[in-house]
Amino acid sequence: MVMKEATPPTLPSMSRTLFSNVYNIPSCKSWFYSVRQKLTSLDLHNYCNILCPIVKYSPVKAVYGKMMSLYEHEWKHSINNVKGKSGKGRNKLRRYCTYMQIFCVEKYCLLIMPPKHRSALSKFRCGVAPIRIETGRYENLKENERVCPFCNCIEDEVHVLLYCHLYAYVRQSLFDKAVSINSAFLTLNDDDKLSFILSNVSIARFNAKTCNDILNIRSFYLCK
Ligand SMILES: [Zn+2]
Repeated sequence: MVMKEATPPTLPSMSRTLFSNVYNIPSCKSWFYSVRQKLTSLDLHNYCNILCPIVKYSPVKAVYGKMMSLYEHEWKHSINNVKGKSGKGRNKLRRYCTYMQIFCVEKYCLLIMPPKHRSALSKFRCGVAPIRIETGRYENLKENERVCPFCNCIEDEVHVLLYCHLYAYVRQSLFDKAVSINSAFLTLNDDDKLSFILSNVSIARFNAKTCNDILNIRSFYLCK
């Protein structure tokens, strides 16, 4: 009687068996377990079935799409939140959310301009410019106590960019530029004026320079 030799397992079949064993043990918190948990949380558990054929790159595209969509949802929620992250004060992105509703690279970031100018513009757009409305947070001052060092008004972005007498000269040039683009600019209310000058890409370079000049003038007079 001739004994039939057992066929040795091939490498792919061994890998598949090993994978199935590790994959199907719920108590084993392996890499596979983590991936499965993630796919399930993203509603992509169809990719957990190793017997289903998978088109090349389709899981990567699906996971990328789902995770980006989740991130965008969280981002939108965080910028539109009335309260700040700590839950104590107001959200410092309360103005940013009025001119930024789509998650994308901002156009002013693609313009060529001196880094200092871009930085100053970013600070005003994100509500983190070193003016009293922001620095007063570090001293736990109430908003009505965060007054301008040069006049007796609350020093926020509206006051600095639209009203403070100290920056009247640099502001006039910016207003002239804004009027040349939007003839109704001077008739807008304060919030719309601020949104216009901080978000209009046509005056982004000019406005970035103005923001930088304002911060320099402010530092100069405070150190005098
Ligand atoms: Zn002032």
